[in-house]
Amino acid sequence: MQGVHGEAAFETLARANELERQGRSIIHLEIGEPDFDTPAPIVNSAIDWLKKGATHYPPSPGIPELRQAIAKNLSSVHNVEIDPACVVVSPGAKMMIFSVIHSLVDPGDEVIYPEPAYPAYEAAIRMAGATPVPVKLEESREFRFDLKEVARLITARTKMIITNSPQNPTGGVLTSEDLKGLADLARKHDLFILSDEIYAEIFYGQKPASMLGVPNILDRLIFLHGFSKTYAMTGWRLGYSVVPRDVFPTVALFINNSVSSTATFTQRAALEAFSKDTETEVERMVQEFRKRRDVFVDGLNSIKGIRCLRPQGAFYLFPNVTGLGKPSKEIADRLLTEGGVSALPGTAFGQHGEGYLRFSFANSLSNIEQALERIRKFVATI
Ligand code: PMP
Repeated sequence: MQGVHGEAAFETLARANELERQGRSIIHLEIGEPDFDTPAPIVNSAIDWLKKGATHYPPSPGIPELRQAIAKNLSSVHNVEIDPACVVVSPGAKMMIFSVIHSLVDPGDEVIYPEPAYPAYEAAIRMAGATPVPVKLEESREFRFDLKEVARLITARTKMIITNSPQNPTGGVLTSEDLKGLADLARKHDLFILSDEIYAEIFYGQKPASMLGVPNILDRLIFLHGFSKTYAMTGWRLGYSVVPRDVFPTVALFINNSVSSTATFTQRAALEAFSKDTETEVERMVQEFRKRRDVFVDGLNSIKGIRCLRPQGAFYLFPNVTGLGKPSKEIADRLLTEGGVSALPGTAFGQHGEGYLRFSFANSLSNIEQALERIRKFVATI
């Protein structure tokens, strides 16, 4: 545990909350969660199932009804045959990242992942005694990795490549060629791919390519998704994965020996997520995110010293702040304490995040407009 850090978003949120308790006005753009309510059919179903007594231990890998519904949904969305017997449910996708890495990676193995990255990858790799091998995501490539660089980093100890598209924290989206290239490398070197697609439904241009759309990959693919982002269900703690058939018993054994299983009534309620009504609600949410993205990106680009790409997915901006001439951490700290806007330094996502900040735009348009004014004023004082 001495080799890992906590997720900075939770730490910064605690600091920002403390400042608010002292009477300061803070705009929260640090934490990665939709500000919308969970769709009503899901909430109502959870209440019903609690009353009906869905309060007992469920099976370790998840209730059969939810595993079947997940398989059916993925099969139709991606035009592949997903077997419900390969679906595992966990209390949050983060727990699944941890479970999969601990199940498949040995001490001394290497795992390649894109960086800046969601910090749980590095933490899980280190906690498994393995070596994290970051591949740098360049702004000039719209934060897509360079396949040649990935190939260069593969050694005899490499066990797994992690990919995340749409990506946290950059909002970058990989192309189907990127994914195919990665799959070819994985086949050539006999590696697992962990494809984190938790932001799959939150996109602003073309529908993002999925690893599930790559032919002949299911025998080495761990597909990761969850309910937190798409359905505004962060606090419910509900994630899932599709794993290769021969890997399933190992991951299920890990879940059995760690968390035992995932809450029963939340799994029952999650069945409502795949209904037509909920789909419409998700589309409405994404439309709203798009408006906020555009206002925020345009606003940031009008501030001297800040340059921001327009992300194609997820709900984060990752502006380049090297023009402000100060390290990211100092800018983020001072923006919070002097400017009243809570954001994360790019370095919260690894060393390649230096020179950037991360803002979540899962906040109201009026708060984003006010945050832009505060950022503009703060930058003038640097
Ligand atoms: N993957 C990515 C890329 C994320 O950003 C997050 C949440 N911030 C997760 C996984 C985990 O989500 P959860 O545990 O809430 O399902």
